[in-house]
Amino acid sequence: MWPPRHTHQLEVTVNIAKKGCAVACIVCPQEKLSTTYNLYPDKDRVRDLSFQDFKKIIDKVPLTTRIDFSGYTEPYLNKDCSKMIKYAHDKGHTISVYTTLVGADEKDVDLLLQICKHPDRPFSAFDQENPLCIHLPDEGGVMPVKITSKYKRVLKYLILRAKMLRLNFGSNIRFMTMDTEGKISKEIHDIFPINKIPFSFKAISRASNLDDDEIQMKAPTMQNYEGGVGRRTGKIYCRTNSLLHNVLIPNGDVQLCCMDYGLDAKIGNLLEDSYDDLFKGEGMKYITDRMNDDSLEGDIICRRCENADYEYKSKFNTTTVNMQDTLDVLYRKLSTESKVFYSRFGDGDFEIMKGNRELLHEWSPKLQKELQEAFEISDKNYLKGVMLNEPTFNGTELVHHSPEKYNKITAFIHNNFNNAEDFIYYSHVLLTYMAVKEQDIVVDFLDKFIRPKKKMFIGSVDKRLIEKLVGKIDYYVEVPDKDAYYTMDDWWKKVLDNIDDVDLVIPTAGMAGRVTQKRLWNLNKNIHSIELGSIVDAVVNSKTRGWIKRNRVDFNKLLIED
Ligand code: SF4
Ligand code: SF4
Repeated sequence: MWPPRHTHQLEVTVNIAKKGCAVACIVCPQEKLSTTYNLYPDKDRVRDLSFQDFKKIIDKVPLTTRIDFSGYTEPYLNKDCSKMIKYAHDKGHTISVYTTLVGADEKDVDLLLQICKHPDRPFSAFDQENPLCIHLPDEGGVMPVKITSKYKRVLKYLILRAKMLRLNFGSNIRFMTMDTEGKISKEIHDIFPINKIPFSFKAISRASNLDDDEIQMKAPTMQNYEGGVGRRTGKIYCRTNSLLHNVLIPNGDVQLCCMDYGLDAKIGNLLEDSYDDLFKGEGMKYITDRMNDDSLEGDIICRRCENADYEYKSKFNTTTVNMQDTLDVLYRKLSTESKVFYSRFGDGDFEIMKGNRELLHEWSPKLQKELQEAFEISDKNYLKGVMLNEPTFNGTELVHHSPEKYNKITAFIHNNFNNAEDFIYYSHVLLTYMAVKEQDIVVDFLDKFIRPKKKMFIGSVDKRLIEKLVGKIDYYVEVPDKDAYYTMDDWWKKVLDNIDDVDLVIPTAGMAGRVTQKRLWNLNKNIHSIELGSIVDAVVNSKTRGWIKRNRVDFNKLLIED
């Protein structure tokens, strides 16, 4: 009979060498780990976990905790690794082993295969229950292991013995590489039965413990690495349940989870404390308090972690205004009121507000904060077009987003803004759809609310060309076409110098546009400010938008005739 599924996991780091794990995979923050640990006082800087200490620790750990031989290093870099595996398994724990086999020999392999045959607690790769995972060298050298004759001999032994014992690859024994497509290093093609395994690897920054620029430099062709997280704000939770999946290091300290290569989050010491103390002690409380309440002093690793997320509850109240009603509201307000803003928040804005470092826009805490402040404005005359609203028009979808993406953004909003229930989401694609499907309405809108106004245009497109769309521009504030926010100190003064001489501001400066509108709103300027969005791209014939290319529409019809 199978034992009950484990409720907790304890990863064992059997060794922290002066230079970190000898395998030195490019996407593993070994430098961070070793630099931090090298600064520990001598008495706390134990390099190898001794079998004696391991035994003392394991004797405290309940059987419902799976023991993982992985941690922050290759487990066979400790000579007692097999002894530890056997002890924990014999005691009744389920075990998992993640290894490159560097440092292992045939006897070590025999023990692993013996556990594969165990009647109650074998390794099983089927459901992540307790896998034996062999990490193979990849074609691109992200795992830069030195392929010695001993390495090849041991790997070959594992393959042949496993076949003799009728063990299955993919079920009893799982293989992985750090290649996006599972391609294996050519150097082992002579001993490994296939050149490519069905495994797709995605590298992460390990709670921003890796330097994105350095990774790009070391592995410029690597397509499977995403930038790390700047800072997750608001109330967060761990979507991988890793508060119960902790990491032991050789001196007995237990770190929060497998992300903590910088050793920032110690939750106890299993040579001194009980296992229960880990979850009831000050270390864990410090973390969970700060996950729940962003206003508490002190930072935590979870705020810069890929696995930190926002809890989605389907009962969130959301008020949306459809495209026709958004148009009606704009017509009504723009013709009767002197202070009206229409701002548009797309997925890039949410990525930055969530703290994600994404490729198209540079993240910074300042931009994140200013965008959040812009999004937080709740006023009947500050109309926020939000991408959560109306993905289709008359059955046509211009840009596809998955429902899961919408849920994630909704969860972010509700865990970050106390006044979220008051928000009204207007259509953010309104003018874009109209430009494609209802050009007469766009022309009418421009004729009534844009062209006759004394105006300021903030953007990077050709002035004469865009004047054919919006009419005479009285003040043109030129900004860079990318990351204009970061030069705002240079051009913001020009906005302020002339703002009192215009009735309308058209920001076409990406996220800097949202920030501009927020600042002007807070300065209480009696103006209209309207984001025209992608129409501007269409008119200047930008190739940046898929929908412009897909919809073969004559945008010249929107322009003022010569
Ligand atoms: S991924 Fe594993 S084998 Fe590679 S450097 Fe990190 S701990 Fe060592
Ligand atoms: S959010 Fe990240 S750092 Fe925090 S417990 Fe989860 S995995 Fe670890």
